[in-house]
Amino acid sequence: MSFSVVVLMGPPGVGKGTQASLLADRHGVIHISTGGLLRSESASKSELGIEIEAIMGRGDLVSDAHLFRCLERALGGLSEAPSNRLVLLDGVPRNLAQVSMLDEALALVGAKVDLALSLEAPVEKLVSRFEKRWGCTNCGGVFAFELAPAGGATCARCGMAGTLVRRADDAPDAVRYRFGIFESATAPVVSAYLERGLLERLDGLAEREEVHAELVAKIMKIFPLAGC
Ligand code: AMP
Repeated sequence: MSFSVVVLMGPPGVGKGTQASLLADRHGVIHISTGGLLRSESASKSELGIEIEAIMGRGDLVSDAHLFRCLERALGGLSEAPSNRLVLLDGVPRNLAQVSMLDEALALVGAKVDLALSLEAPVEKLVSRFEKRWGCTNCGGVFAFELAPAGGATCARCGMAGTLVRRADDAPDAVRYRFGIFESATAPVVSAYLERGLLERLDGLAEREEVHAELVAKIMKIFPLAGC
């Protein structure tokens, strides 16, 4: 097994999930969303899932130990993937401790962080995005609707009916709380990758396709994406 690793960072609502889905759908990138892993764990009602549900609902970070239990399981599962793939990590690291924990988890599977991409945007421009945001509980797709989708709405990505929901942590109080965590705990992670010479910054407010093209161009410097 051998794979390259890109981490995708940015404040809540900047479009990490949307962009990661585009890279997965168009270029065969393996997308690992830690929020997605934790939501699946919570939905499974396992002991760990029940423990993290309330934490996530209020917009708090789950403990590093819990997070890495889920992440290491997902990374271990990559042993079945064909070699020489690109893995995009969406949502980790979220604090400085996770930077070194991630190094260790990747070393266990013979990988390292090869590139860190930071989607940047002023927080005040992102707040209104949450009022329109809906997510698919089946495939993790993220969509914007001015009005709530009619009952039984079908996910345009995976085709499942009735799977579009508003996340509990997209409620206004939880969103404010998540921005606070981003500023205090996650912003220093960007500096850590800058110091390592691995950081590329992108304008997260640009049009969706423009951001996608920029991401592709930056990734192509370290990995030959399929379909380019
Ligand atoms: P996201 O989908 O990336 O916005 O993540 C949703 C929620 O999952 C976050 O608000 C946290 O509660 C939890 N979460 C995701 N990634 C992490 C992480 N790296 N560390 C701790 N909690 C996380």
